[in-house]
Formats: sequence, C-alpha cells, structure tokens
Amino acid sequence: MPELPEVHTTTVGIKLMTKGLTVTDVWTDYGGAIHNGKLNIKDKNFFTKFKQATVGKKIINTGRRGKNILINLDGGVTILIHMKMTGHVLYGKYKKVGNSWVANQPGALQDPFNGFIHLVFNLSNQKQLVLSDVRKFAKVTFFDEHNKNAIELELLGPEPLEKDFTWQTLGDRLETKPRGKIKTVLMDQSVIAGIGNIYSDEILFESEIHPESVVKKLDIKDYKNITKAMKTILTKSIKLGGDSLSDYRNIAGERGGFQNHHKAYRQTNLPCPKKNCSGIILRKIIGGRSSHYCSVHQKLKV
Ligand SMILES: [Zn+2]
Repeated sequence: MPELPEVHTTTVGIKLMTKGLTVTDVWTDYGGAIHNGKLNIKDKNFFTKFKQATVGKKIINTGRRGKNILINLDGGVTILIHMKMTGHVLYGKYKKVGNSWVANQPGALQDPFNGFIHLVFNLSNQKQLVLSDVRKFAKVTFFDEHNKNAIELELLGPEPLEKDFTWQTLGDRLETKPRGKIKTVLMDQSVIAGIGNIYSDEILFESEIHPESVVKKLDIKDYKNITKAMKTILTKSIKLGGDSLSDYRNIAGERGGFQNHHKAYRQTNLPCPKKNCSGIILRKIIGGRSSHYCSVHQKLKV
C-alpha cells in the first residue's frame, strides 16, 4: 500500500500538472451493489453527487493528509483519493475504447501494469487524470462545508515530517497506546499519519528496536531514535520518488527507487546489513502484518 512518501510523490505530481485546469467530466466503472449506501463513488447515487460537485470546477491546489490525496477545487470542494492496496493516479493523454480507457501516448503509461483504469477525470487541456487500481480497493469521495464525507481525516494523528513533530510529539502520541506493540502502534493512523508496513520495518531497524517491543517499555532515547529514523527514512524515500516494490507508480507511470534501499522489509533470511552485526533478517506476523527485523541488533523490550 502506498505510504507517506508515495502519496507525497503523487500529490506533488498532480499539483504540478493540473493546477488551474478545470474538470470537464468524470467517468467511473467502480461500483456494485455491495457498495450501496457508502459515502464514496462506488455507490451509484453518490457518484451522481460527486459529478455534480466536481464537473465545471477549477483545480486550485493539491495536498496530502496521511495517506490521503486532497485535490482542492474552487467553490470549497475537495476530492479525497485514498489509493489503498493497488491504486495509483496517472496523468496524460487517454482515449476511450469500448467501455474502457487506454493511454494514448508513448511511454510508461502504456505499461500493462498501469492499465487498470477505473476512474477518469477529463481536464480542460484535453488530458486526463486517471486512477489505475487492479484490485479496486481505492476510496474516492468529496467533501465541502455541507457534506462531511471524510470524517476519517479528523481522526488522523500528526504528520511526522512537520517541523514541529519532535521526539516529545512522538512520545505523547505513543503514550496513547501504552500496551501496544511498537510496530502496530507506528502503523496506527490515529497515532501518527502516513506510516505503514514498509516504513515501520525500516524505521525500527534503524532505531534498533524489536517490532514486538511494548510501547510503555520504551525510553526517551528510543523516542529520539525513532523520530530521527522516521524523518530520515521518509525524506530519503521522497527523494527517490517512493517505493515501487509493489504496485506504486508515479503519475507518469514510472517506478520510484526506495525498494532498492530496504534494509529489513522483505529481506528475509539475508544477513543484516548493519555494520558489524552478525544477525539475519527474520519475518514474523505481528498484529496481522508481516514484520521484518534483525535477530541480533533490534532489542526486545517487554
Ligand atoms: Zn542486525
């Protein structure tokens, strides 16, 4: 699933390419009876409202909150896209063939991997902003002052890359889940926004903390180490364009580079890459998610 660096990369791309353009039409083939009544475009009636709220509006800005892309339109309407497991937003020239959309320009958008188009925004420059999503788990909705369709945003914890996010902030947030395992708590979006499976593994590897350590057993030194590792690793991944080990692609359909820099995530049975450490990387399911960590230098505190 795209995490903070991937969503950031996509957000910056959308902002660069679409600012000032107008949404001229919206198309989707998301749907199905199981989604009826939901406050997202997979519900047919909701999609009608979504179209009314967005078509004819100009894109003013694009931002991010946690793993959510937020596209601001004039008139106070915001489109929210959560890419979930396999979604990625793409931008370029597309054409409709039968009841599906295909890229109509050479390059990475033609990659079959980018071809699972389930949502299309037609834009006033005759190009399209689309969502490719092979497993169709993505969530798309809108909100404005009258329509509170995105209350989940209000439940998100603070942003780890904000300047005012310090080790004290981390400590205050972790202490809301004192009995939790650190890996699970770091991925809890209400504690800190934007971190998932890949970056929690990498952050704990760097911080020398075992993922099953209990939050209340951590000390100030651990808070400082986690905060430093979090900022360093997330920033490094943003510079590399995010992580494309799985489905993530940037809006041009191209891979990021962070998957070539993993020290723990999916490195099972490889020697620990930390200098002078004799450990190997182990894999264990923690809180329902696979976790990767060094058998020697990541200390278990319980
Ligand atoms: Zn090690």
